[in-house]
Amino acid sequence: MATKQFKAESKRLLELMINSIYSQKEVFLREIISNASDAIDKIYYKALTDEHLTFDQDRYYIKIIPDRKKRTLTIKDTGIGMTKEELENNLGTIAKSGSLAFKTKNELQDDHHIIGQFGVGFYSAFMVADVVTVISKALGSNEAYKWESKGAEGYTIEPCEKDSVGTEIILKLKENTEDENYDEFLDEYRLKAIIKKYSDFIRYPIKMDVTER
Ligand code: ADP
Ligand code: MG
Repeated sequence: MATKQFKAESKRLLELMINSIYSQKEVFLREIISNASDAIDKIYYKALTDEHLTFDQDRYYIKIIPDRKKRTLTIKDTGIGMTKEELENNLGTIAKSGSLAFKTKNELQDDHHIIGQFGVGFYSAFMVADVVTVISKALGSNEAYKWESKGAEGYTIEPCEKDSVGTEIILKLKENTEDENYDEFLDEYRLKAIIKKYSDFIRYPIKMDVTER
């Protein structure tokens, strides 16, 4: 007898997953920062074995940029970046963890990395954003690409301009509703507190310009 494949409605599944795995919306930032850190790790490990590449500590960082006017929160990293194919494969396949093989057993012990094992961390961005834009330039590539998605409907990829190697994740925050407020993710002090709570162990500098009050 032939074994038949289950059919899955990916849109429903994505919504279900996004809204059930995470108990709090704020953890999206932990997931995005953790991916940024992984991307810098990848350059670091490459530099260990590639004599043409040196790892200059000062050049590697993560930057958080809230923009109240545009209602966007951007997370920029100077990590290894993604080629067009990597954008397709890594962000186009739900629950395929590209970084899993990369991590040590030890790192997988805490619950954060248990969630990370499912390879769904990136999609947690859709808990707070209705449009997610990823602009990336891979190490060793002259081209940059822009991946954009409004969620389960799918995504687009097109060439774009980016000077330096690395990735920028631009979250167009959802509009506030009666029950939910997303403005908090534009507030520097709130962002600082979330970063302190979940990303304190990150090895690379996490920068944010702060306005004087
Ligand atoms: P995981 O981190 O468990 O692999 P995610 O859903 O968090 O799963 O991310 C999916 C994949 O997308 C990563 O494995 C990585 O290949 C790629 N990715 C996400 N963010 C970045 C980034 N900032 N720089 C480079 N690659 C990234
Ligand atoms: Mg991840």
